[in-house]
Amino acid sequence: MRRAGRHFLQIPGPTNVPDRILRAIDQPTIDHRGPAFRELALRVLAGLQRIFRTRHPVIVFPASGTGAWEAALVNTLSPGDRVLMYETGHFATLWYEMAKRLGLDPLFLESDWRSGVDPERIEQALRQDRQARIRAVCVVHNETSTGVTSRIPEVRQAIDRVGHPALFMVDTISSLASMPYEHDGWGVDVTVGGSQKGLMLPPGLSFTAVSPRALEAHRQARCARSYFDWSAMLEANARGFFPYTPATNLLFGLDAAIRMLEEEGLERVFARHARHAAATRAAVAAWGLETVCRHPAEHSASLTAVLLPEGFDADALRAHILERFDVSLGNGLGRLAGRAFRIGHLGDFNDPMLMGTLCAVEMGMREFGVPLAASGVVAAMERLSASR
Ligand SMILES: *Cc1c(COP(=O)(O)O)cnc(C)c1O
Repeated sequence: MRRAGRHFLQIPGPTNVPDRILRAIDQPTIDHRGPAFRELALRVLAGLQRIFRTRHPVIVFPASGTGAWEAALVNTLSPGDRVLMYETGHFATLWYEMAKRLGLDPLFLESDWRSGVDPERIEQALRQDRQARIRAVCVVHNETSTGVTSRIPEVRQAIDRVGHPALFMVDTISSLASMPYEHDGWGVDVTVGGSQKGLMLPPGLSFTAVSPRALEAHRQARCARSYFDWSAMLEANARGFFPYTPATNLLFGLDAAIRMLEEEGLERVFARHARHAAATRAAVAAWGLETVCRHPAEHSASLTAVLLPEGFDADALRAHILERFDVSLGNGLGRLAGRAFRIGHLGDFNDPMLMGTLCAVEMGMREFGVPLAASGVVAAMERLSASR
């Protein structure tokens, strides 16, 4: 049956793709070895450096974010290398499992899935590593399963206090272009991003910012790699080309996305996300519900994960809201399955879109019988009006 009006895609990625980006993608594919492509490639690669805030190369793989995770590990490490990882939630766990499958020796600092990376625990683990066996520290900036953002500069400071030589790798797949991030300024060696979240594109591209130290490690690293080899990519990119067929039409979209972010201004983009996140939290508090995130300093600006009271199935609630209002919400992942739902408020988004989303959530919860203390919608509206 046809559903009138717009579908609300309020999962924390893929996000709503703006019409301007859809139109940019909807062009005839061009010769990826020709002069027009070269111009496009050089322009988007330079634009990505501004988004990651780096003077060093950014690599684009035709792959989802998971591909860039793999590339980060196999390009810098050798079989059996020890890496330090931190269990912020589902995505950190998937990266850890990948490291094991790739023949690395990851050390996983366990946590409660409600908190960010504790820099002191990173410091402690590095201090105990007297022979400097740990070759990399890998953390997720914005843990999309919990709505918790880790304080990356403090993790860098922890590594520096020990004077440990490990590389520092950060997953920014759901924070890039939604929250402040500085690849160079924060001393990160490898930053991984993806197209379908803050960058407002369809899925299919992943990005990797690479520091000179990471490139140096790359030259010694012995993990097997072929499609994801950085060297072949960087060599071709320097001339404005790719070593194999790129996702040309997604690059048209990326070109438009970078332009849109810069027209709005990254600082304003970040402020917009922070404001929508604050209004969403005001709604959650008014409802009398709890966010998965425990610590006020660690709330994510790109999504909010909400815990339902005991006895309510979050997946059944999401199914109800989709059926009634054509609004998609994120499911609880891993150990939060059935207990939490996630509201994505990142990407191409404004006040009425947020209010429409929160109205659907509130109506859905009332119809579902979830006891609510007060109207979250009214609280969110008040917050938005107070912070124009
Ligand atoms: C979405 C996401 C991923 C996975 O990316 P895919 O594009 O699905 O491969 C990894 N890490 C984080 C933090 C994410 O939000």
